[in-house]
Amino acid sequence: MLALILAGLQAKGEDRGDHFIANGQKVWTSYADKCDWMFCLLRTDFEAKKQMGISLVLFDMATPGVTPKPIKLISGSSPFCETFLDDVRVEKDQVVGEINQGWTIAKYLLTHEREMIGGFGLTDAGSDTLGQIAAKSVGVEEGRINNSLLRADVLKWEIDGAAFAMTAERVTDEVKSGHGVGATSAMLKYYGTELNKRRYELMMKIDGSDAMIWDGANSNGGWTPRTWLRTKGNSIEGGTSEVQLNIIAKNILGLG
Ligand SMILES: Cc1cc2nc3c(=O)[nH]c(=O)nc-3n(C[C@H](O)[C@H](O)[C@H](O)COP(=O)(O)OP(=O)(O)OC[C@H]3O[C@@H](n4cnc5c(N)ncnc54)[C@H](O)[C@@H]3O)c2cc1C
Repeated sequence: MLALILAGLQAKGEDRGDHFIANGQKVWTSYADKCDWMFCLLRTDFEAKKQMGISLVLFDMATPGVTPKPIKLISGSSPFCETFLDDVRVEKDQVVGEINQGWTIAKYLLTHEREMIGGFGLTDAGSDTLGQIAAKSVGVEEGRINNSLLRADVLKWEIDGAAFAMTAERVTDEVKSGHGVGATSAMLKYYGTELNKRRYELMMKIDGSDAMIWDGANSNGGWTPRTWLRTKGNSIEGGTSEVQLNIIAKNILGLG
């Protein structure tokens, strides 16, 4: 399954009685060429305001008129597609929830997606910390990373990472005690993805010119630069950082 999610969407579902005819296109559909089914938002009421008049439908990727086309990314891998819908027949019993109320469901799905993507900001348990990676690369003197500028950057990241991990733990406890994650997912998404980008900027800095080696056994197949490039998408997928900041301002800080 995959998502097609955005409130300003142009994909249309034309009402034909017992079914809709869907037309439109969506870029960045992850793994669309490997999925069996898709969940898709269609505009089904053309008079309604932006986030109203949208329906969430499910359909088989083998339905005539559904064409996923893979996109090659700068990192060299290609897990994304642009998916085209040309006169795709979607029965009305494939609508999830009420017709024209799909945005409510999409918002709920997005809170989980954002929470999950925000998790990239947490340090992987079991792997080396940024400090250990830096220490191995530039050496240690009197127990300290042997480069004062790098040491300060790494320390700042480690402190911010620890604060983020504690915040994530607090949110997990709140969820366990029955609170919905709601707009807090925007906070986790924003901070977690920005942290992950900062982590890989630092990884590139630590490795210096070696970080630019793209291929070959010594560079582990260019793992660091490829992952660094991939992190750039973290603050776009699932809703951009700017959009998360708007949600935080409006729904958490009560501004505007
Ligand atoms: C790696 C990756 C994987 C993805 N996977 C999927 C997937 O599986 N399925 C899927 O459906 N989509 C997927 N997407 C698409 C992703 O959800 C959208 O790209 C994202 O939501 C941003 O929407 P947009 O591209 O339309 O940008 P736009 O909304 O056009 O934004 C363009 C720019 O304008 C800014 N902007 C927009 N609105 C505001 C505002 N109100 N205030 C301030 N700034 C604003 C944005 O921050 C951004 O900088 C993926 C994207 C990436 C990069």
